[in-house]
Formats: sequence, structure tokens, C-alpha cells
Amino acid sequence: MRKLPPELSDEEIDRLRDECRAETVRTTSSELEEILHRPIPVLNYGFVRVVDYMGTDASIVQAARVSYGAGTKKVQEDRGLINYLMRRHHSTPFEMCEIKFHIKLPIFVARQWLRHRTASVNEYSARYSVLNNEFYIPEIDQLTAQSETNKQGKSDEPLDGRDATEILNILEESCRDAHAKYSHLLDKLSLTRELARTILPVSVYTEMYWKINLHNLLHFLELRADSHAQYEIRCYAVEILGILKRWLPITHDAFVNYRQKSISLPQKCVELLKQILNGKKISREESGLSKGEWQEFAATFGMDE
Ligand SMILES: Cc1cc2nc3c(=O)[nH]c(=O)nc-3n(C[C@H](O)[C@H](O)[C@H](O)COP(=O)(O)OP(=O)(O)OC[C@H]3O[C@@H](n4cnc5c(N)ncnc54)[C@H](O)[C@@H]3O)c2cc1C
Repeated sequence: MRKLPPELSDEEIDRLRDECRAETVRTTSSELEEILHRPIPVLNYGFVRVVDYMGTDASIVQAARVSYGAGTKKVQEDRGLINYLMRRHHSTPFEMCEIKFHIKLPIFVARQWLRHRTASVNEYSARYSVLNNEFYIPEIDQLTAQSETNKQGKSDEPLDGRDATEILNILEESCRDAHAKYSHLLDKLSLTRELARTILPVSVYTEMYWKINLHNLLHFLELRADSHAQYEIRCYAVEILGILKRWLPITHDAFVNYRQKSISLPQKCVELLKQILNGKKISREESGLSKGEWQEFAATFGMDE
């Protein structure tokens, strides 16, 4: 299903990489250099690719120590410092690194993405250019019913096979139909592109350049590589997390440990935990927690509800 535009073929990317190749005295990440410019496919037509970046783990350490190039010490000491900065939310050294992506994504994913205001964006103009006949159609295993408990989410139950096939047919047919009418408005009726596009659904693909500093990127990843985020934007965030691991391996590990997989507890839960650790048996009614809080607390620590 995954397709990349011809200008992003392996040959074109190799040519681009050769054109850009230059000696530098800047600090670079060899692992990230390997994939620079190369698109990583996401969803059926989307991709994310790194166009440029600034800094490495060493730049964070260097800024934190306000030192010259030789500011980095042994890897273990650098790791310790980055862990400390992450743990203590001492964020400005992370702002010293920047990254620029070229991203192709469905418009409904872009709407969620662009809520992150702390990045610089330039998006493909559908007033200026014609949109391709490329729409996001979910994989069949992503088709589930609306959750009855979570108003923003899916249930875990897959849909009946025949219903799923019918849904895919409806989605594909309506996208095809919308694009045919879009082309008709443009080619036969000479309507402006800026108005003709209004007939297209939010599953149509757009593209953008997105530049962000590392501090804000980590915030984005914390929210969007999380199980609460919608599956489609999460697919992109997970790929970007993989890119982060190549680019800044020490920061990646610190982020996973101190942010992504860490938990924060309200004070009443801390008090409760102290009592439980001291051997006290506490029921939900005695805990002072709401039903939802109690369920989350129990799930976090693997307790029987
Ligand atoms: C699971 C999930 C569900 C969501 N559901 C909805 C929804 O139903 N409806 C909806 O509208 N949105 C929803 N959102 C979007 C969410 O409310 C945020 O707009 C989005 O995640 C961007 O977060 P942010 O503002 O922290 O990020 P950024 O815009 O990148 O900002 C980063 C930080 O900078 C600071 N900041 C930036 N701009 C300002 C400002 N103008 N004033 C004060 N501080 C600022 C804040 O500290 C902010 O946390 C959802 C997000 C997630 C992850």
C-alpha cells in the first residue's frame, strides 16, 4: 500500500545527498547522517524525513556546562548530566538542538499536529498547487467501533468482517468520487484551486516542512507517541522517536526513562502508597480516591481493584 513520490526515489535521494555532501567542522551524528533526506514511510502514502538538524548529545552537555567544544567528558558523565537535566526539567540545554522534517500526512492528522504551536511550519499550498489523488484509507485491522466508555477512542473489539469490508468500500468510493469532482471543478469548470479543494475530505494528504527545537519535540513526543493519542498521529510520532534514538541516543534513553515511561502521582496517591508499603490494606472507599483515580492507581501498581 505504501507509496512514495518519484522525487523521493532512492536514486533521487542519493543524488540529493551527494549534492549536499560537504566537509564540516560542526558536530554531527553519524547515525542520523545515514538517513538524512531519506523518507521513512508512514500510513499508506505518508512519510517523514529529516531534512536538516543541529547539534548532538554533546551540544546539550556543552550548553549545560557553558563550555567550549571540549565540554563533553566521559560518556558516562555526559549520560549522568543529561539524565539529571531531564529528571529536573532543566530544559534550556535541550533547546540548543534543532531538527527540520519534511512530512507528508493526511489533513486530519495535520490538524492535530499543528496544535503544537512551538514549531515553525510551512505547508503545501492547495491554493497554488493541485492536490494528488491520495487519501488515507485505514488498514482493515484499524477499523473498530466507537468505545462506549472513552468518547475520544476506539473499543478493543474489531468490527465484523463484512462490516469492515463495507466501510473500506465506502471510504474508497467516496474519496475517489470526491477527487473526480475536484478535477471536474478545476479542469472543466475552471474554478479556482482555493475553492475547488473544499470538496475534498480531511483524509487527503498534505505536506509540510516542520522545524522544532529538541525541548518542544520531546513535549510533542510525550503527547503523541502515547497510547492516548490517535493511532494515525502516533504512527508518525513513533517513527520520530526512532529518529531521535539515532540522533541523540543518550537523550532518547533519558526521555524514555524520565518522561515517556515515568508516572506522576498526586499527593494523596503518594500518601496512600506510603501506607500500602507499610503493610496497610486499604479499600477504594477508604482511599479517598474517585473510582477513576482508584482504577488508574491500581493499574499503575498492578494491584487488584
Ligand atoms: C490525547 C490528546 C487529546 C486531545 N484532545 C483535544 C480536544 O479534544 N480538543 C482540542 O482542542 N485539543 C485537543 N488536544 C490538543 C491539546 O489540547 C493541545 O492543544 C496539544 O496537545 C498541543 O499541546 P501544547 O499546547 O502543550 O503544545 P505547544 O503548542 O507545542 O506548546 C508547548 C507549551 O508551550 C506553552 N504555550 C504555548 N503556547 C502558549 C500560549 N499561547 N499560552 C500559554 N502557554 C503556551 C505551554 O506550556 C505548552 O504546553 C488533544 C491532545 C492530545 C495529546
